[in-house]
Amino acid sequence: MTGPLVPPGHLFGLDTLPYGSFRRGDDPRPRVGVAIGDSVLDLGAAAADLLPGRAGLFQQGDLGGLLGAGPRVWAEVRSAVREWLGAPELDERVRAALHPARDVTMLLPFAVADYVDFYSSKDHASNVGRIFRPDSPPLPPNWTSLPSGYHGRAGTVVPSGTPIVRPRGQRRTPEGEVVFGASTRLDVEAELGFVVGTPSALGTPVPMAGFAEHVFGVCLVNDWSARDIQAWETVPLGPFLGKSFATSISSWVVPLAALDAARVRPPARDPRPLPYLDDTGLEPWGLDLAFELRVNGDVVSRPPFATTYWTGPQQLAHMTVNGACLRTGDLFASGTVSGPEKGQRGCLLELTWGGAEPFRLSDGTSRTFLEDGDEVVIAATAPGPAGGRLGLGEVRGVVVASR
Ligand code: CA
Repeated sequence: MTGPLVPPGHLFGLDTLPYGSFRRGDDPRPRVGVAIGDSVLDLGAAAADLLPGRAGLFQQGDLGGLLGAGPRVWAEVRSAVREWLGAPELDERVRAALHPARDVTMLLPFAVADYVDFYSSKDHASNVGRIFRPDSPPLPPNWTSLPSGYHGRAGTVVPSGTPIVRPRGQRRTPEGEVVFGASTRLDVEAELGFVVGTPSALGTPVPMAGFAEHVFGVCLVNDWSARDIQAWETVPLGPFLGKSFATSISSWVVPLAALDAARVRPPARDPRPLPYLDDTGLEPWGLDLAFELRVNGDVVSRPPFATTYWTGPQQLAHMTVNGACLRTGDLFASGTVSGPEKGQRGCLLELTWGGAEPFRLSDGTSRTFLEDGDEVVIAATAPGPAGGRLGLGEVRGVVVASR
């Protein structure tokens, strides 16, 4: 390795230290890694020498062991890694466990247990309401009383880079005919995912104040959506095959501990939520994250996460208030992140207003929805301590033709 471990301005510095799962070369064994600059630290290898009491957490090669160990261990491991990688002279055993990021293959960071997708951006929900139900009020009557959500398909959550096969299904044509075929309105949704570490008991709700006890960190989510399939199937029971064909997540999970400088007051709520959702007197969990949505390399939108109406703690409290339990590896996503401006909308449905307003790419072509071969990247950054910025990485996927 030559040059500094963290090039100046790199988004994976000592204040980020995200966790992922990777393999090296032809070796099929998965390993737990920490990203630092353009390198990946083999955490299991380093811990075997330097933190032997915790090395067992990394043996299975994904984040499962660490996630289930709870916040005291999360802090201990992060502190140790920071010390190893921040040392003026790297320990030889740390140096030996560092690999160039370009030489590793990233894997799904954790086995996804249950997957819930929320709908927590007021701008997104209002826009979708106006597009799909132009003759009704944009928001359903319950929207400002509870964080709306649905249970998604955990088994089709895939790691960044997985090709996305265009789904087939039923749709209804504008003339009212029901037909079957490849989706013609394939879309994306830029979202933030919350990764659950500490489980909870069946029958015992988790209050908002339990958020940092149970949630380990965040990842980026692309909730691929077939709008034509979705529009036809969604009444009366909500999203089904229009969403369940694939959901991509970023390779790196950023621990909540890295997001202290990003925490801001969430937007004012009207009406005031019921007590189990009223966060007025609690530490704020709005997050000032800057998202980018790119299609074939062009930035088509910059959604601001700070405008999201319902926070992670509110989503967690609502998701468990009926007594549903949490499992290690549960993933719950924010819902599409959209801000009030047109250039801040987190999906193509909104950006093109239901396909009525195509946008142009720098190669001269235009889009309403995605074409085969299109590559979508969702990336995000957050304020770091001392005025810097840190990265949440990216989630990437290319659309391939139906099989
Ligand atoms: Ca979604």
